[in-house]
This record gives sequence, C-alpha cells and structure tokens, in this order.
Amino acid sequence: MAFSEKTKLLAKHKSAFRCCLCHKPFVEIHHITPQAEGGADKLDNAAPLCSSCHDLYGGNPEKRKTIRQMRDYWWDLIEKRRKNLTETLDIEKFCEVSTDKNWEGVLRSQGIVLYHAVFEEEGFEDSAGHIHRLLKSAQDNTPNQKRFLFLDIDSHRNENGGFDHDMYELQRHFLLGFLAPYFTEIYMPLGVIKNEKAQRNDIPERIEIFEDLNQESINEAIDKGVSSIWVADKDKLMTFE
Ligand SMILES: [Zn+2]
Repeated sequence: MAFSEKTKLLAKHKSAFRCCLCHKPFVEIHHITPQAEGGADKLDNAAPLCSSCHDLYGGNPEKRKTIRQMRDYWWDLIEKRRKNLTETLDIEKFCEVSTDKNWEGVLRSQGIVLYHAVFEEEGFEDSAGHIHRLLKSAQDNTPNQKRFLFLDIDSHRNENGGFDHDMYELQRHFLLGFLAPYFTEIYMPLGVIKNEKAQRNDIPERIEIFEDLNQESINEAIDKGVSSIWVADKDKLMTFE
C-alpha cells in the first residue's frame, strides 16, 4: 500500500508544501516508520521531506523520533501562522477608529499591510534596511494610514531551534525597541506587537546601523545628514533633529 492522494495532499498542505526538516519547497511524503516494518499509510506516519533530507535522514532509524518531533513542530507553527493571518487580515475591524486624540485624527480609517520575508542569505542590516524602506514608501505613498507589518523568517535558526543572533536582534531590538511606534501592529515569529499609542508617522529619512557607537561614528553620521542612528546590541536609539 501507499499513502492515498488525499493523505499526501493533506500532509503537504499542513506543511505549507515545505520540507518539515529544512523548510525548502518541493516535497514527497515519506513513511516515518517504513512500510516493511508495518508503518501505516496514515497521516500520523507521514513526513513531507525534500529529496536531500530524504536521502540524508530518511533511511536512518535513529532519526525517526526527531523527524516526527520536527514535523509536529512545523505543522503546529504553520497552523498558528495561518490562524494569526486569517484573524488579522480582517483589517477593517482594527481600523474603525477614525479619530485619535493623541494624533489629532490624522490616521485614516483604512489600514495598509506590509509584508517582508527574510530568507537564509539575508542578514540583520539588509533586513533592517528593507523594512525601513518598506515603511518609508508606505508613508510616502499612502500617508498616515495605519500600518500592519507581517514578518516571515526562513531558516536563521541556532542549534537549539531558536533564532540566530541577527534575527533575534531584528525582532527583539530593531522592531520592538525601535520601529514599533511607526506601526499600528507588527506580526513576527517571536510574537505580536500592538502599539498602544497612536502610530507615529514621522518616519526617519535614513537609518544608519552601527555595531559600536563612538564619537567618531556619530560625527560621521551627522556629516552624512543621517536622522536616526540605530545601535545594534545596545537597545538604544540616538536621534538627531
Ligand atoms: Zn529538507
């Protein structure tokens, strides 16, 4: 016997058509416990794997438990993301407030959704730059609309399954600590940020990122006309008017 087409499709769909180990697309459905050992053609025994993960781990009995755990984790994550997305794409319900005392009613009633996906080769600086440009162009093209940022992060995991330094920094410090006031809501893998205050629309023209801040780098930035300096690792922002 083999998996039915229905089971295969369901397993792929639950995986967002990605390998449950490395998250790359184009998968086949693998029997975690092989058919020869009585493994059933049931969803519970099905793991969507890409061809390289299948070749590397598929035949190794010692990896079965891990494959199952990673599959369950991945399916769970996809389900949560979908739930988040459908709940939050109903933007209108968040946007009924047409006036705001703190912002003198300048926020328009309709919201705008911004989306950015970080792939494996993209580091902190590139991601931060992309998100800043996205924010800037949203404010330039559709001024003062409520902004909702959706951030997806592919790979960028450490050995413990957590985020690597760059992507932790991006979410925890850059988005939560620095850019959050410029959005109404941010949806990122680490969690959801809801801006309790009115969204700010005075977006910094340019952002310069420094690993180390010293007087020399400050002077250099001022010379270049930079309006905001983001200091990585220090959870600190210096703004120059
Ligand atoms: Zn794979």
